[in-house]
Amino acid sequence: MLSSLYGKLAVVLVVLLLLLGAAFAIGTLLSSRAFFAEINQGLHRDLATHLVKESLPISDGEIQPEALDHIFHMLMVVNPSIEVYLLDAQGTILEFDAPPGAVVREAVDLGPVAEFLEADSVLPIWGDDPRDPERQRVFSVAPVGTGATLDGYLYVVLGGEQLDSAIRMVRTSHELRLALGALAAVLLFGLLSGLVSFALITRRVRRLDRRMKVFRESEFVAVPDPVAAAGGGEDELARLESTFQEMAERLAGQLEELRRTDQLRRELIANVSHDLRTPLTSLRGYLETLRVMPELEPDQRRDHLETALRQTRHLGRLVNELLELARLDSATIEMRREPLALNELVQDVVQEFQLVAGERTVELDAELPKGLAIVDGDVGLISRALENLIENGLRHTPEGGRVAVRVLQQGERVGVRVEDTGCGIASEDLPRIFDRFYRSSSDSPAGTGLGLAITKRIVELHGSSIQVESRPGEGSIFSFSLPVPADEAAGSPPAVS
Ligand code: ADP
Repeated sequence: MLSSLYGKLAVVLVVLLLLLGAAFAIGTLLSSRAFFAEINQGLHRDLATHLVKESLPISDGEIQPEALDHIFHMLMVVNPSIEVYLLDAQGTILEFDAPPGAVVREAVDLGPVAEFLEADSVLPIWGDDPRDPERQRVFSVAPVGTGATLDGYLYVVLGGEQLDSAIRMVRTSHELRLALGALAAVLLFGLLSGLVSFALITRRVRRLDRRMKVFRESEFVAVPDPVAAAGGGEDELARLESTFQEMAERLAGQLEELRRTDQLRRELIANVSHDLRTPLTSLRGYLETLRVMPELEPDQRRDHLETALRQTRHLGRLVNELLELARLDSATIEMRREPLALNELVQDVVQEFQLVAGERTVELDAELPKGLAIVDGDVGLISRALENLIENGLRHTPEGGRVAVRVLQQGERVGVRVEDTGCGIASEDLPRIFDRFYRSSSDSPAGTGLGLAITKRIVELHGSSIQVESRPGEGSIFSFSLPVPADEAAGSPPAVS
């Protein structure tokens, strides 16, 4: 309990309040002592003067024993706690009425005596106690002498121990007891309200601590409930809670991302192995057949060789695309971005595929409006992305269909759409067609399943994203856009004519 934040705060508060109470009590006691001494000295201010007036203890430099005895006797009767000393003009104690050994000082300091005798002296004035070398006491004093000569002083130490009297006064004074009782009540109230406030403040710290513990015990997977973090306004603790929430979410997200990447990596390796093994096995099968069966007809031999060749082409393409994807994925890929006229680029790529389109009797054309802005991009990569999209369009469009590439200005970007009137893509395949090695179940095994993954990566490297819309049986539209560089957008003349 004491090791907790609440325990430590409570101990500090209790100690502080105890110190405060003790300081107040000591202060009260000391001020009561001074007050008591002041009253005592004030009341007896003229006592010594009266005594001297009553009977002069020194006359013409001679001590008058009868007069002194009279004074001692008188005080013994009136107040036995008052002590009288006869001093000479230098403060040396000449006479006193006390048992032998009781008086330990030989002289009394005359400084306080002179101060006392001044007309406007402020009480209490503490003077030497002849019976105690350490202690100071209040007194009354009067000079003794005849005419202008000073023979000495009558030094009257006022009775009662002031501290004892003060303690007695505190004990017996109703008002003081009331004040001390009120102080105790205030301290108790302070203690209770302090403990309650600490409990309220540390409750939120404890709650944060619990949430952190739960998060840690879940191996940083289960993000704590954000609703539980609410409350407490905008103070430091609330900020701490929301920062922890944010950190927990980010950490859990990154762990999830890592797990997903790891899963993808495993799948990728499995897919690569599978996709390499299948054509290799088939290739070896055909080559083995050719080797062990020399009696095969020339037509059959040619068929086998062509199939084997097709497999090597497929293998080559697969390896190339894998390498290409690895290059696009690498953090150090060097893009050669430059101002490029998309119209011309699209025109060239479409031209490349006209022959293939003609063979498949699919119409391939480009719609290129005039006055398009120059965009910023890597010519080689953008051509590659367009080739993939056009090739896919041609491959999935039946005879008599159409593949069109449109380029259009879209504000400060230039959009590219590759549309076909092909078989379309089933809605369950749509979310996955950009995944590596994903091929729809209806597709021919000729594809590698990497083309769209490469295209997507290229578009992403240009700070954009690729979209697809498709209706099975009607066709598909793939689209992306490229940014117009800032100075182009501001209306400067195109960099490429
Ligand atoms: P592949 O090289 O095997 O075509 P892609 O990554 O290019 O691999 O395409 C993934 C899948 O997306 C293909 O299996 C195909 O089913 C589907 N697909 C891509 N483009 C089209 C299209 N224009 N029309 C219909 N389906 C398409």
